[in-house]
Amino acid sequence: MKIICIGRNYIDHAKELNNPVPAEPVFFLKPESSQLLNNRPFFYPDFSKEIHYEVELIVKISKLGKSIQKKFSHLYYQEIGLGVDFTARDLQDNCKKKGLPWEIAKAFDYSAVVGKFLPLSHFTDLKNISFSLRKNGEIVQTGHSADMIFDIDTLIEYLSRFFTLKTGDMIYTGTPAGVGPVAIGDHLEGFIGDEKMFSFYIR
Ligand code: ZN
Repeated sequence: MKIICIGRNYIDHAKELNNPVPAEPVFFLKPESSQLLNNRPFFYPDFSKEIHYEVELIVKISKLGKSIQKKFSHLYYQEIGLGVDFTARDLQDNCKKKGLPWEIAKAFDYSAVVGKFLPLSHFTDLKNISFSLRKNGEIVQTGHSADMIFDIDTLIEYLSRFFTLKTGDMIYTGTPAGVGPVAIGDHLEGFIGDEKMFSFYIR
């Protein structure tokens, strides 16, 4: 399986990192080995001094597809979840400066926290999903799916031009503003509405 992550999909987050608002989706990949499952602790890696959380809605692909038209995108997923796209911001800033790929900063082991998934029947409107991240009990990020620059169906159409989407693949749909650092001992909890989707510690 693969994880496709969307960058700069919320205007307020693009602005906080001084990035232009994109005309087309910006994306990168994380490998299968990047998954952090079952609320296991995240062990702070020795190669970075600035690991940031990015809370993101996740779409899980439920059917193989290629070159999917937007009007059919909804046939390719049945669950929405929540996760964290951990980012070694110091390494990413260095990559950006040098025009290098981001994998070293984004695709490392356990950089993709995968929380619970909810069936589509849980949602009345996919454009009305609110989500949040708490660090040590305090809300540090809130997001709303209506604020995505590219919605889920648009992302599936766009990404499937380049990649065959396979059952079990995940799309991390981008982070809203409020990204920030974690430290050893921190407790992170993610919510969709009032539903707790993950809870784990930084070790
Ligand atoms: Zn992200």
